[in-house]
Amino acid sequence: MKKFITEEHKKGAISTLQRLVKVPSYLQDAVPGAPFGQDILNSLKECLTIFEEEGFSTFIDPEGYYGYAELGEGEEVFGVLCHLDVVPAGDLSFWNSPAFEATLKGEALVGRGVQDDKGPTVAALYAVKALKDAGVEFDKKIRFIFGTDEENLWRCMEKYHEKEQGVSMGIAPDANFPVIYAEKGLLQVYLTGEGSAEFEVSGGAALNVVPDTAIYRGNKAEEIASDLQKLGYSFEEVSGALHVKGKAIHSKDAPEGINANTRLAEAMVNHYDHQGIDLLGKLIKEDAKGISAIGEFKDEASGNLTFNVATVEINDQETKIGIDIRIPVTFEKEQVEDKLQELAKEYGFKYEEHDFLASLYVPVDSELVKTLLGAYRDVTGDMREPMISGGATFARTMDNCVAFGAMFENTVDTMHQANETWQLDEMYQTLEIYAEAIYRLCGK
Ligand SMILES: [Zn+2]
Repeated sequence: MKKFITEEHKKGAISTLQRLVKVPSYLQDAVPGAPFGQDILNSLKECLTIFEEEGFSTFIDPEGYYGYAELGEGEEVFGVLCHLDVVPAGDLSFWNSPAFEATLKGEALVGRGVQDDKGPTVAALYAVKALKDAGVEFDKKIRFIFGTDEENLWRCMEKYHEKEQGVSMGIAPDANFPVIYAEKGLLQVYLTGEGSAEFEVSGGAALNVVPDTAIYRGNKAEEIASDLQKLGYSFEEVSGALHVKGKAIHSKDAPEGINANTRLAEAMVNHYDHQGIDLLGKLIKEDAKGISAIGEFKDEASGNLTFNVATVEINDQETKIGIDIRIPVTFEKEQVEDKLQELAKEYGFKYEEHDFLASLYVPVDSELVKTLLGAYRDVTGDMREPMISGGATFARTMDNCVAFGAMFENTVDTMHQANETWQLDEMYQTLEIYAEAIYRLCGK
């Protein structure tokens, strides 16, 4: 294997990353021409300037949602799907160095965005630069696409798709090595209907977590407590209310958690005649694969659907049930949606979609996954298999794209935390992996 990365490239990557981290880029109020705030727009402009300095031609969306930088010729486009926005620094007292400076500390860089996603973006840039410096010519156009709303609602990619062409294949350098070839579909919905004058239920705070507490208020606390005991479910009495306990876990792993909402409903079914309590307490119960509610969805590639009754609010005004569903990659959204709508109708609820992200699936034996995996294995010697993830990257916004790096098996994940850190040896290895992979996919 040829060595493309020189000491110069490593130094250049560090100072370029420092330049990018210096421009804070977390979501702020829109100003004209900057839908996510002036800082994010400045970060996009700085990034495009850096790419121009390396010989890329660049484009910025006149509305300020995204930009891209291109190099090379060819009909086909190889995409590198990055994002420049970051999460805010959080409580600054937890930082040991300025959040918006990439500070060199021993053999690591510390600063907001070094791992997510400015560092991997710069690594991909220097990988292409190293190939160019070595005289490699490309048979594809290499297009870096810079999103600016990844940490929130992905409105940048929505705009990109309204206005631009997709890519022929590509990578999102925003997750883990060796390569993530499948990300489940995500569907979050609300079922709403009539409330109850007899009791109140409130459980769960966020759609992406299995609820660990559900609270009952009403005049049948004694009877319900007795049923909870019979069922063997843990709960507490807090000034007349019942707090049913569950076990929180990310929604994508719902079957491994304990759902406080459905547990409470199970203890209520004999005491109330209410469509929401019936749905949760008689039908769904502890089934976090949704089989009782919508039938079985399961495939070889990505396993079972997960079904988390994440939030429940029942009061005298209304009933609102929030459900997070992760759909196995070989099923269409509509297949699940149809079943959910049937269910809603049967129980007299209104069905309302909150969010949807299509799944990602590129077969393991595809040219793209095989080549990326081969490059990774040859550079590192690590023979781990390609992975499936319940998480989400921009890879799923385009056909034939996968998430590729830049975290290794033993990388400490400091994304979104104080003192976000990228180890230099990992950065250097990432440079080599990206150079080798892009050489094999795009080199002439
Ligand atoms: Zn990211």
